[in-house]
Amino acid sequence: MSKLYALFGGTFDPIHYGHLRPVEALAQQVGLKKVTLLPNNVPPHRPQPEASAQQRVAMLRCAIADRPLFEIDTRELEHDTPSWTVATLEALRAERGAEQPLAFIVGQDSLLTLAKWHRWQDLLSLCHLLVCKRPGYATQMDTPEMQRWLDEHLADDVQQLHHSSAGRIWLADTPLLNISATEIRQRRHAGASCADLLPDAVIDYIDSVGLYRG
Ligand code: ATP
Repeated sequence: MSKLYALFGGTFDPIHYGHLRPVEALAQQVGLKKVTLLPNNVPPHRPQPEASAQQRVAMLRCAIADRPLFEIDTRELEHDTPSWTVATLEALRAERGAEQPLAFIVGQDSLLTLAKWHRWQDLLSLCHLLVCKRPGYATQMDTPEMQRWLDEHLADDVQQLHHSSAGRIWLADTPLLNISATEIRQRRHAGASCADLLPDAVIDYIDSVGLYRG
């Protein structure tokens, strides 16, 4: 069994099939036995999620109840301060040791804006990056420098992810799902159906607590 420990961070306001299905396909390709969902804390100066942290976690629980691939780590919600991915990865690295292969999963849109992340240049010293396709986003990086950085770190074999602790980027061949949490919130506010965009159990939860209404 692979020791590769993979995290998937997001706001998950709410979690949807655009999160779940590409990551399930990625897990199959890469040979991940588990993926840890890492709901993030949104810094106070940014637009806040509509759902509370507790509701976002409750929706994750509903979504993964029948998906044994996933588990949840709520550590980033336990502080009021912004949750920098790099700091969480440093904590995990300290807990799990230098040899542990670690990976952080992102969608293509997040890869494109990676240079805006806090201490982004430290990320690959801490983990591999596993990238899911996302429709509507460029497949090339914005600048020649970022494209060169990407090319230099690309893994050409999945085994590299298992046999080194960090430093590689894997562009996964995942299904394209044109779904965003923004669209789901907007559809709910407009009273439109969201069936097929997220699991029924999550829709039932949203209905039961009256989220994304009006
Ligand atoms: P919002 O619309 O509120 O900005 P979102 O749908 O983009 O939300 P997030 O929780 O911000 O969802 O995303 C968490 C991670 O999931 C990010 O790395 C993002 O790139 C990825 N992701 C979200 N939706 C998709 C999708 N449809 N396909 C592939 N990756 C996705």
